[in-house]
Amino acid sequence: MSMPPPVIVWFRNDLRLDDNPALHNAAESGRPVIPVFLWTPDSEGRWKPGGATRWWLHHALKSLSGQLESLGSKLILRAGNSEADLLKNLMAQTGADLVLWNRRYDPYGVQTDTRLKKDLPAKSFRGNVLFEPHQIANQSGDYYKVFTPFYKAMLAQGDFSEPVDTPKSLPAPSAWPESLSLDELNLLPDIHWDQGFYDTWDPGSDGCREQVETFLDEAAGVYKDKRDYPGIRGTSRLSPYLCFGQISTRRLWHQAQEAAERGAKRGGIEAWTRQLVWRDFATHLLFHQPQLDWEPMQEKFKDFPWEKNDKLLNAWRRGQTGYPIVDAGMRELWTTGWMHNRVRMIVASFLVKDLLIHWREGALWFWDTLVDADLANNSFGWQWAGGCGADAAPYFRIFNPVLQSKKFDADGAYIRRWVPELRELDTKDLHAPWEMDTPPKNYPAPIVNHPQARDRALEALSSLKDSN
Ligand SMILES: Cc1cc2nc3c(=O)[nH]c(=O)nc-3n(C[C@H](O)[C@H](O)[C@H](O)COP(=O)(O)OP(=O)(O)OC[C@H]3O[C@@H](n4cnc5c(N)ncnc54)[C@H](O)[C@@H]3O)c2cc1C
Repeated sequence: MSMPPPVIVWFRNDLRLDDNPALHNAAESGRPVIPVFLWTPDSEGRWKPGGATRWWLHHALKSLSGQLESLGSKLILRAGNSEADLLKNLMAQTGADLVLWNRRYDPYGVQTDTRLKKDLPAKSFRGNVLFEPHQIANQSGDYYKVFTPFYKAMLAQGDFSEPVDTPKSLPAPSAWPESLSLDELNLLPDIHWDQGFYDTWDPGSDGCREQVETFLDEAAGVYKDKRDYPGIRGTSRLSPYLCFGQISTRRLWHQAQEAAERGAKRGGIEAWTRQLVWRDFATHLLFHQPQLDWEPMQEKFKDFPWEKNDKLLNAWRRGQTGYPIVDAGMRELWTTGWMHNRVRMIVASFLVKDLLIHWREGALWFWDTLVDADLANNSFGWQWAGGCGADAAPYFRIFNPVLQSKKFDADGAYIRRWVPELRELDTKDLHAPWEMDTPPKNYPAPIVNHPQARDRALEALSSLKDSN
């Protein structure tokens, strides 16, 4: 009896076997399955994968390959400029007559996939969100621009469908097509700047599983009380795994409910699963407003008098602003590829309001340095900080970096960890060392005076109102 033609499963931002509807569907079909990942960094417009993303991707692919091999399968790697050409080629070489994938919602992904569907026999699934952007609409059928009603509408849907399990086996094709080796994708840096990444992360599926278990068993119940303090481990740090789809939000949603049933505090669990919905909300907004990655959502900000100043921008990037909480955050980012959410808000506000530098510059730097760089979450976070987004912090509410520092890093544990020059200071001096009689010589003086910078930002804002 001849074998039925194989089916291709195209992995993208869903590098997992568990709760992967495209893979599950392929396995159920009983046909040989060819898993493939395509490396096409030039096809994503201005948002080419950054250095930190490439690092994580290397390890995520390695882990995925290993998992597929344990099911008697294999991950085929191909690289080029056009997904269509690469897929057609693979179909011709293997006789496959169908490509399966889980849908993406960013503008580049949507454009590519829409084109491909006209060109190839393909079938797509919901695998990367709790609900898809078109599934949640307000009473007039429009999309939501404010979080709370979006959240309520999602909860009201009620149907958080069950995750699908890892396939028990994946039938192999009669012969495997050619594949590049992982090293040939050249994802790891030539210069060895990534030691801090290795020290911080276990980027494979074992690391992911361990982090989920530790968080849900030990920290999720008290998330609400601990999430804002960067000096402690109060959040899940699952963002990079979510970003690469090494775990599905749907699986996490259900696991969190189970943790509550085992006794974790409901309030904590709800506060945390609400964050998962913020992720869906950002995806929802970028899908419906595909220019969100570059243009302010609020029209009037198009005329904002941003300043161009490379010296100040570089001081911010390198964590040399003279504001300890800002510098701690920027150095944490540089060293580990991640930054605590509270500190992301502080450093973003500092760039946009104290330095009056365009939020896009911040978004671009984060894009290159974050291991969880995600176009929807990043654009949304920056528009929020810039005061020009949907449901954003109003522009006139300007974070005071010293007060934020005293409030959220009161004992200075976070600053001491990331700004070693200040480690020996008394806690009372740590948040504003320039106020000491003899400030430490090896730490920069503040690059701007916050009260003056604040006035300048408010003035820039009022110019905007005047011109409208
Ligand atoms: C300026 C700025 C830029 C940001 N850029 C990114 C980015 O590129 N990628 C990214 O994943 N997050 C981004 N965030 C959101 C948030 O800071 C991170 O998701 C969070 O710090 C990740 O840590 P965690 O996994 O411990 O989160 P937890 O607190 O444990 O939350 C669980 C998950 O919920 C999601 N989530 C949490 N907060 C948000 C939020 N505000 N918006 C959307 N999803 C959220 C994330 O997937 C996160 O992993 C940004 C925030 C700001 C202010």
